[in-house]
Amino acid sequence: MSPNGPPARPQLAEHVLARRHLVGEEEIIVLHDVRSGQLLQLGGREWGLLAAADGTRDVEGIVLAAAREGAHARVRAAEDFFAALHAAGLLAAGDAGDDAAAPAICAAEAAGAAGAAEAGRAGEEDERARRARPIEVLPDFSLHCDGRGSCCRLYASVIFDPEEAARARALRPDVLSGGVRHERAFTPERGAWPCAASAVALRDGRCAYLEGEGRCSLHAIGGPDAKPLGCRTFPTSFLDDGASVRVSVAVECACVLASVGRPAGAPLLDPRLRVRGDLDERVHVAELLGRVEIAPGATVDRAELVAWSRRLAAAAPPADIAEGLWSLAAAVEAEGLAGGTLARYERPAPLDPAALAPWLAALHARAARRAREDAAWRSERDLALSAAQWIAMATAALGDVELLGALLSAPAQRPERERFYLRAALHGHRLVGAVPLSLALRDRAVRLVVARALPAIFAAVGASDPACAEPIALVEAMLRAYGLDAYAGEVEAR
Ligand code: SF4
Repeated sequence: MSPNGPPARPQLAEHVLARRHLVGEEEIIVLHDVRSGQLLQLGGREWGLLAAADGTRDVEGIVLAAAREGAHARVRAAEDFFAALHAAGLLAAGDAGDDAAAPAICAAEAAGAAGAAEAGRAGEEDERARRARPIEVLPDFSLHCDGRGSCCRLYASVIFDPEEAARARALRPDVLSGGVRHERAFTPERGAWPCAASAVALRDGRCAYLEGEGRCSLHAIGGPDAKPLGCRTFPTSFLDDGASVRVSVAVECACVLASVGRPAGAPLLDPRLRVRGDLDERVHVAELLGRVEIAPGATVDRAELVAWSRRLAAAAPPADIAEGLWSLAAAVEAEGLAGGTLARYERPAPLDPAALAPWLAALHARAARRAREDAAWRSERDLALSAAQWIAMATAALGDVELLGALLSAPAQRPERERFYLRAALHGHRLVGAVPLSLALRDRAVRLVVARALPAIFAAVGASDPACAEPIALVEAMLRAYGLDAYAGEVEAR
């Protein structure tokens, strides 16, 4: 290999997701670079080559292995293909053949190994304390699922572990002929080489196991336990903040917001589960880091953040939550998490259209790019394509300062939804993530403003999808699941 050329034994990078899509009758593989947001479509033969590129084979070996699976290519064409992937940054850095005789382990396995080592270091005493951590469930909320499968139509990745995939293939062997061969219905969760977890193929953006009227066929045949764990726990989120395990809800599904104020739905968690050790070991419990960045360059101990979150959750919500979040961001940057910051939340200043403009422009750039790229290959029936287009249209419309000013001066149509949105985020510490807290607060204010603008877009284009009933949930799902949320980091970089 030349110093800048592709590895002699190529394999897909861990930061690239390969997903099988059926668009009408056409079958394609889409590579998604989660770092850059770049997408690349592959045909069956190219995917055959990539699936044989396990990091131990040179290109000739890959061509031979792919041919055994029915994907025939010339060595020269395969070399050009891997060179193009390398130039696009989609291959693993370095040459696995130089230092590894076996395929790279998948991300989940690596994370598991790292987690085990970490647990060992933490010691038995720490582990006992962790397992004894009390569970705190978001109060005054229960879920009414409408059974229309909106969440099964919007996510780019629906993950199955090996047992779940085997059960699904046995229950529905006809789905993409998955009963005969696993890889007909699934791709690896990460990279191209089979690893512990798999992502199910999507038909027009819908999970392949979703039936026409919006019902999960695995649930219909095998009962709720036939679904993968992620589907059974969705939209519940789990986060250990060092004092308790916060069980909250991702406001990414119309059913969540439609449940606000409605008692007697399904509890987020079986009330018999009281401490972390009671949870199914396979449930992903995120960890709040020991120090949290609250503003660019400023950090606090997580206990301080937890106490601040509790005070904010107990504070009187302002009439306009978006205004409250924006004012709070400025207060956090000026004063940290001192008690006085909450006064700025309870009595916020009006939103300034000029201050929001760069945020909306950055989100528009992300959404418009996503809509443009997806339009080249997604079906018009694909909700993810429509949602990206709607968000791009809404953020473009809000580029008109007069229109933005008019929207900001009008009261929110559904303030109780916005209050719940913040309550759920605070309880689950969902404002802590890739960007400092102050930027996350502004980001959430922007999301609410965009959600307020969406009904006019739905009316203009005649959109009637059930997912349109709750614009906040649609914005939330799209920003997280399709990487649009990276816009918040880009505003500051401008
Ligand atoms: S497995 Fe069932 S519940 Fe899960 S995404 Fe697919 S259709 Fe929906």
